Amino acid sequence: MIAEVHSTAASAAEEQAFLAGVRRFVAEYVLPNTREWEKDRLPDDVFKRCAEVGLMSMVVPKSLGGGGLSCVAYAEACRMLAQGDPALSMNVAAINALCLAHLVDLSTPEQRERYLGPAMKGDLELAWGLTEPDAGSDARRVQTVATPIEGRPGYYHLNGRKMFITNGGRAHMIIVIARTGEKELSAFFMDTDQPGFRLTGRIPTIGVQASWTAQFELENAVGWHTPCTFEQATGFLFRGRLGIAAMALGIAEKAHELAVEYSKQREQFNRRLCDMQSVQNMIADSEIDCNAARHLIREGAEMYDRGEPIVKQASMAKLFASEAANRVTNRAIQIHGGRGMTFDFLVEKLWRDAKLTEIGEGCSEIQRMVIAKQVTR
Ligand SMILES: Cc1cc2nc3c(=O)[nH]c(=O)nc-3n(C[C@H](O)[C@H](O)[C@H](O)COP(=O)(O)OP(=O)(O)OC[C@H]3O[C@@H](n4cnc5c(N)ncnc54)[C@H](O)[C@@H]3O)c2cc1C
Repeated sequence: MIAEVHSTAASAAEEQAFLAGVRRFVAEYVLPNTREWEKDRLPDDVFKRCAEVGLMSMVVPKSLGGGGLSCVAYAEACRMLAQGDPALSMNVAAINALCLAHLVDLSTPEQRERYLGPAMKGDLELAWGLTEPDAGSDARRVQTVATPIEGRPGYYHLNGRKMFITNGGRAHMIIVIARTGEKELSAFFMDTDQPGFRLTGRIPTIGVQASWTAQFELENAVGWHTPCTFEQATGFLFRGRLGIAAMALGIAEKAHELAVEYSKQREQFNRRLCDMQSVQNMIADSEIDCNAARHLIREGAEMYDRGEPIVKQASMAKLFASEAANRVTNRAIQIHGGRGMTFDFLVEKLWRDAKLTEIGEGCSEIQRMVIAKQVTR
């Protein structure tokens, strides 16, 4: 089950064609709608449309009907999507790295048969539920309890609360991390169309607002056990962090591009902004931030594709890219001056969206702890 070989990977030509399709998708559909989506949420058919260009099966091997893409291509797609709409990038990144990867590597053939096909078509929406009101950075503190249901081998009753779950308000199936013993935690597939699942609300956020961030309660909700340890289930966060790093890079690149364009058009003191040294300094610093983030992400993704451990690299890429995105978007607003603080210019939205990247999938302080632990062990 877990050790099945997923042999078929995409060729370089297939990856190039896929990325060209994503680029068109972002230019024609995602970027033109990002302001509209933020007023409420991503549209109902968004994941179906993502599926049509291969975004809902990036990490699934070709032998299972997916794209079989490399981590380099996965990160590239997350980056491009974020240039169009960071909330969509975050959703696609999390669904691939945390949910689809779990279905591929840690589920039974029966479970895959039920969920994988519809999920890859965008018909079955997914979410990943670890965080709880009292278990955030300290993920092992999860209080949601899983109790075996008598006479139904493999099925458990889940009781507890989850919060900050991306796409949790619209997902048909959520992978719930729950406690099976005093020290043991594991993962469960939980369908949301059952009485034991109670959505307690959407959580409005200052950035990535189009994402349906949700909280919910579980009262004897039925979960289908996916035989895995806590470490296996959360091990998907390493590639996931490269996805969030790529999302941060996409945000930074877009803000940088807009700031450079603006600085070439706006004149004060009979000079263009881009001819003023203080503005040039900001442009230079943002160029370096984007480039350094790009290299760290590329290094981590290439290591993943070679089968090497990426614990440290993923944290370094995520930490640097997310902090860079916050610096770059802040500078982009500064270069736009007062206009940068209005809703007429996209840089303000990118600035708000960037904040999530310093918090989701492990806040910056946790990334520093991971890096230091790897360096000093
Ligand atoms: C928009 C959004 C989407 C999300 N999506 C998901 C999702 O799909 N699934 C999911 O399970 N979770 C999700 N999360 C939750 C996210 O992973 C957590 O918010 C994050 O891990 C931090 O946990 P917390 O919010 O409880 O903060 P806390 O753990 O309470 O930490 C608060 C702050 O304290 C500091 N801190 C905490 N621990 C340490 C430490 N050991 N050393 C130093 N400083 C520390 C940090 O500055 C940190 O930011 C999402 C969050 C947001 C905002």
